[in-house]
Amino acid sequence: MTTIRQKNVQSAQWSPNGEALGTLDLTKDKNNPFGANVFSAAVQKDRLKGDTFKQLQSTLEQGEALDPSLADEVAEAMKEWALERGATHYTHVFQPLTGLTAEKHDSFFEPDGTGRAVADFSGKELIQGEPDASSFPTGGVRATFEARGYTAWDPTSPAFILENPNGALLCIPTAFASWTGEALDAKIPLLRSMDALSESAIGALRLLGDEKSNRVFTTIGAEQEYFLIDEHYYFDRPDLVTTGRTLFGAKPPKGHELDDHYFGSIEPRILACMLETETELRKLGVPVKTRHNEVAPGQYEIAPIFENSNVGSDHQQLTMQMMRSVARRYGLVCLLHEKPFAGVNGSGKHNNWSMGTDTGHNLMEPGDTPADNVSFLFFCAAVIQAVNKHQGLLRASVASIGQDHRLGANEAPPAIISIFLGAELEKVFAAIESGEGDPHTPGSFLELGASVLPPLPMHGGDRNRTSPFAFTGNKFEFRAVGSSASLAFPNTVLNTIVAEAIDDLAGKLKQKLEGGGDLAAAVAEVVKESYSANKAILFSGDNYDEAWHAEAVERGLKDLKTTPDALPEVLAEPTVEMFDKYAVLSERELESRYEVWLEQYIINANIEAETAHDIAKTMILPAALRHLELCANSGLPGVGQETSALAAKLLAAIGELEQANVYPDGVEGMELALHARDKQIAAMAGVREIADQLEKTIPNELWPLPKYSEILFVR
Ligand code: ADP
Ligand code: MG
Repeated sequence: MTTIRQKNVQSAQWSPNGEALGTLDLTKDKNNPFGANVFSAAVQKDRLKGDTFKQLQSTLEQGEALDPSLADEVAEAMKEWALERGATHYTHVFQPLTGLTAEKHDSFFEPDGTGRAVADFSGKELIQGEPDASSFPTGGVRATFEARGYTAWDPTSPAFILENPNGALLCIPTAFASWTGEALDAKIPLLRSMDALSESAIGALRLLGDEKSNRVFTTIGAEQEYFLIDEHYYFDRPDLVTTGRTLFGAKPPKGHELDDHYFGSIEPRILACMLETETELRKLGVPVKTRHNEVAPGQYEIAPIFENSNVGSDHQQLTMQMMRSVARRYGLVCLLHEKPFAGVNGSGKHNNWSMGTDTGHNLMEPGDTPADNVSFLFFCAAVIQAVNKHQGLLRASVASIGQDHRLGANEAPPAIISIFLGAELEKVFAAIESGEGDPHTPGSFLELGASVLPPLPMHGGDRNRTSPFAFTGNKFEFRAVGSSASLAFPNTVLNTIVAEAIDDLAGKLKQKLEGGGDLAAAVAEVVKESYSANKAILFSGDNYDEAWHAEAVERGLKDLKTTPDALPEVLAEPTVEMFDKYAVLSERELESRYEVWLEQYIINANIEAETAHDIAKTMILPAALRHLELCANSGLPGVGQETSALAAKLLAAIGELEQANVYPDGVEGMELALHARDKQIAAMAGVREIADQLEKTIPNELWPLPKYSEILFVR
């Protein structure tokens, strides 16, 4: 198994289509070599004319637009390749605003008029598709424009074949836009943000003396947490089936406080499922590499080697899809909900983020020469400034109804965004700020002269697992992302806010340099100013500690606890201004996202509340009544009193939930979201509290739902 080099990353690692990763020997399985089902650069090279291949490659490398005249030849080669591999259909895969992946299948075969069929796939069909846009949420963008949307081929994310026992499907990653060019999906803004960041970073690199780099790529590697449970339990729980989480369930006697699960051995069935998932993913060119048990029972993690943001984000969608479908082959169900079990650790998706040049320089790598240090400190300061300025937006970028149960629930970072730098790096910044050397570091800062920047610590060393945004040696790890989330928007935000901060710092640096200053000294000054102004966002203590909430508020940091609290940040003035300036999202596009996300919150809360009501009324209450009957028949005085009292309370709580589930007249938008949060979700919690007590008084054989102790521990 090849391990990724964390230092001195070769340019190949930053290849925009993730292709270079294919050269890593990630598998010993000769029948299923890495990327076997990917229309990779190697396949393209074999099958395209030399010129076409070169033009396509330069499109990929430089992020240029594709020459449409190439499309027919590429389409023909792609079709031949796909047919040879058994594909009968092709699909434009895209990511509507729901955060899911959508596809519409078309057959390659068309009747030829003689009763036979010919395989046909033109450049036009490759480049553009027209799904029925009306069935996807657009947050009103489409209403005043044409009702149609179209998918456009994204040549920077490689096409691949999804196998199925009964056939195979050629999948073409695409962007989804309205005819007026407005982004109806998650991919377009991400691509735009990558362009924005590249331009800003290249500008700054020139000032910093880098004349060689021409493109900067942002990279992501996501550590995905998930649960695997036996499907029998799943199908016996209407709440899991319809909402992805348990709406009822008392805490099991044996819980995750027994940490024998963490990094413990993996049960054979689970391991078999993981191995097959990994094999499938490798065939699709997804470079997955790690697996271990997570903290909670039944919880695991999978992580890929990082790729550029676009490919990494597409691959992450594919990973979730594969995890779900392979699990079923083993009689398991993969739960990607952020909090499937109350009182048990939830699942996140740590979004490791960095940026690197096409010459192979990871800009978040401290490096061991002073020149690297200058550049690292500059870009690191930009990240700090960006996160501080747009903390609310970052919080909003990970908001969802599932997250509301996870963030701050004692196993995940709170809803307050802060940065952990690590003690050594903090020392370096503090020394730059004060202009005074750290007596413990030999040869360090004595003056803000040319020698101000000593070698930096190579790796952050210490870790803080409670931080929502931590520097981890050569990348930042955005840990607040939810397990079911698409990575596209959080990374769109990261890229754009950092682009903005880089431009701001570069402008200041330029001024100082025009004044005829030394580069290192000028950078030190810029870093010092920015650090001083933004250091309130740094926090190295325990983020799970209650005291942090009070301190954060005192510092003026935002504590946006729930989705309705966070979403308005999407339309806040600094957000709108920035996205507009970098042409990543127009105000209309932002409004549409706000509306779609708010609507999803309302709809999901309602589905949960209705499901909770049904289960309580038609499963749990009857179980209580049966128990009471049993008690009455026993003739023993006093028996069943507890159940009786709880049943009465449950009846009342169900009544309250029933009322909450009726929407007040004329209420919509944010007001309705607040109704959902403060009335429906609150009433649901009320019902649950009583039901969970009943679970402990009613005989096992009468209890209608599989219990946590079964679901989590029986594999
Ligand atoms: P750790 O969290 O212990 O540092 P790893 O080194 O295994 O763990 O990295 C965790 C994740 O971070 C992996 O998915 C990895 O690919 C990703 N990662 C590593 N370097 C980068 C980078 N430069 N940019 C983005 N992600 C990265
Ligand atoms: Mg990690």
